Amino acid sequence: MGKRHFGWMLALGTSVGGLMAAALPAHAGDRETAQATVDTRAAVEQPKIIAWRRDIHEHPELGNQETRTAALVAKHLKSLGLEVRTGVAKTGVVAVLRGGKPGPVVALRADMDALPVVEQVDVPFASKVKTQYNGQEVGVMHACGHDTHVAMLMGVAEVLAGMKDQLPGTVKFIFQPAEEGLPKGEVGGAEQMLKEGAFENPKPDAVFGVHVISTLHAGDVGYRPGPFMAAADEFVITVHGKQSHGALPWTGVDPIVTASQIVLGMQTIESRQMEVIKEPSILSVGSIHGGNRNNIIPDTVTLNGTIRTFDEGMRADIDKRLRRTVAGIAESAGATADVDIIKGYPVTINNPELTAKIVPTLQRVAGKDHVKLIDKVTPSEDFSFYEQQAPGVYLFVGITPPETDLSKAASNHSPKFFVDESGLIVGARTLAHLTVDYLYGL
Ligand SMILES: [Zn+2]
Ligand SMILES: [Zn+2]
Repeated sequence: MGKRHFGWMLALGTSVGGLMAAALPAHAGDRETAQATVDTRAAVEQPKIIAWRRDIHEHPELGNQETRTAALVAKHLKSLGLEVRTGVAKTGVVAVLRGGKPGPVVALRADMDALPVVEQVDVPFASKVKTQYNGQEVGVMHACGHDTHVAMLMGVAEVLAGMKDQLPGTVKFIFQPAEEGLPKGEVGGAEQMLKEGAFENPKPDAVFGVHVISTLHAGDVGYRPGPFMAAADEFVITVHGKQSHGALPWTGVDPIVTASQIVLGMQTIESRQMEVIKEPSILSVGSIHGGNRNNIIPDTVTLNGTIRTFDEGMRADIDKRLRRTVAGIAESAGATADVDIIKGYPVTINNPELTAKIVPTLQRVAGKDHVKLIDKVTPSEDFSFYEQQAPGVYLFVGITPPETDLSKAASNHSPKFFVDESGLIVGARTLAHLTVDYLYGL
């Protein structure tokens, strides 16, 4: 047995060696060493990531007010020897880590803002923070999990900074404010970060980001090539009629009946006019206001709602059709209407080729059974702006405890949004491994 077995091993060794030399790039061995280094260093980082996350969770800050969080981030990145720029788009932090060898540039992004939500999760580090928002006193909570994004990316920075000699290229760390949107009149978030040079000097060749999500269990990673998260546009329609006595409608123009026709008419844009098999779209009216008593037909009615789309062409098309439908129905009643469409975030589109290339990395990091091809989601995300500037992939990372039924888990933005922190090491390893694999060539 011994002799024959030995001969077989020798033969296998020779052929595998020959194959590897032919098929893999020169620094294949370096790549594997770097991958092993990521795992060793990430394991050490895990308790730190959890500690940062709890600290940030207990001290949440609303968009454009993330001064404490940004200071924590900047101090950490400086201690790692990175080139750090602060005050980008108010509180944003951008840092550059130059590897020991030349190569491409990868950007990694975390958002830092919390939401005006009163926390109802029973953990020792629950938020008790209160602040003013739109003139009201509100609680503040990391109900979307951006605390975990910051902590994971701080951990990734430490993992990669400690092995920079092994990195063939540059890593850019982007900590941005105000992903959740801002009160009227304020600017911020990804779009403003880009305007203030977040993608300049050096310009990234690829961008990656993760979002924790209640619809996946801790340990799982979700991905989707192409359109992934919706564009979100807001509309305000003001129907102008002519005020009259409720008993004498023929003496005026009734904007309530006209607005009702508009609500129903606009639903036919989605169902009758858009190519529903191409991409889904949604048009929802969220509020109607008009009138103040039973026997007065008012002068005006205001409709306010949201449009969700997964294709920029369809997005522009719905804009036109909505204006046409509203104008046509108003005219038929002898009324007029103003349509104001306030553009929100674009469609978040994961680069299909890059997404396909990173799936093996995801499977290696999380395990094949834990990598899920997921459906499109109708919320929006300002990571979309980065993906307009460089090929990118935005991923979902599960944080619902494995024993919890996913349909019963409190969703992101809920006051009961709960994070199983075991998911964070998977998120951090995912970002670190994507970076290393991209730099070595996918
Ligand atoms: Zn959110
Ligand atoms: Zn979010």
